Amino acid sequence: MKTFTTRREIREYLSAQSPATVGFVPTLGALHNGHLSLIAQAKKANDIVVCSIFVNPTQFNDPKDLENYPRPIEADIAKLEQAGCHVLFNPAVSEIYDNNEQWHLDIGPLEHLLEGEFRPGHYQGVTQVVYKLLDIVKPNTLYMGQKDYQQFMVVSRMVELLDIPVKMVMCPIEREPDGLAMSSRNIHLSPADRQHALILSKTLNWVKANFDSNNITDLQQQAMDLLKTEDGVQPEYFEIVDGKTLLPADRNSETIVALTAARVGKTRLIDNLLIR
Ligand code: AMP
Repeated sequence: MKTFTTRREIREYLSAQSPATVGFVPTLGALHNGHLSLIAQAKKANDIVVCSIFVNPTQFNDPKDLENYPRPIEADIAKLEQAGCHVLFNPAVSEIYDNNEQWHLDIGPLEHLLEGEFRPGHYQGVTQVVYKLLDIVKPNTLYMGQKDYQQFMVVSRMVELLDIPVKMVMCPIEREPDGLAMSSRNIHLSPADRQHALILSKTLNWVKANFDSNNITDLQQQAMDLLKTEDGVQPEYFEIVDGKTLLPADRNSETIVALTAARVGKTRLIDNLLIR
């Protein structure tokens, strides 16, 4: 695997290779099998797979979260080598941002729904960094996880609005055997939190199993109640939405997804499940 830390070097390398197709997997690092499943999917369809590891400060609304974000770069490099990733882009913050850069993209209601309500500014930071990374890597295909469902919709909207020539592929959520969605933040869970965290996937599955026999508003309320019954769990939202707009679902919505976020101990987790 080739590792680059500057824009100039990675651009030069990719243009010299002139591959038929480049697949790109942007990450914040602290890699787990969820990330590696994206690399594997990208490898199936591309000549060159580029992974970026960049803890993007502009998407963190909580400075403590940014400070505590795990950065095990040596272990990450070993995992990427093992997965057969071809190129790692691992820039410093100063390589990506000039001081006091301004960015705003009007992505409509998507910005303030769900995660947007609880993480103000988060999706502006996400679109800002993904725009820059796409401009550097110029991939044919961008691979992102369903784990961050709203992020996928936000980036799709940006790609559409700015007419960026990239295809987007959504990869399924990788879970631990007991159902917990893999996340870089799971290492912050104490053994007790780790057990309590199972209530997220259990509740999502319960809602899916009961979807046809209940009305949507009641289901959302029951799901919130179920989450609250678990020790150490403070739910922020549980919503059943139209999978395309992320506005409240109705029974006619073609795609329906349930999304939730909760604090488990001190750790904030998100999860979701396609209901239809
Ligand atoms: P992150 O490093 O958390 O920004 O994630 C980088 C990419 O990996 C994003 O597209 C995520 O949606 C995806 N991802 C994170 N967790 C998982 C998972 N458990 N399964 C599949 N993809 C994931």
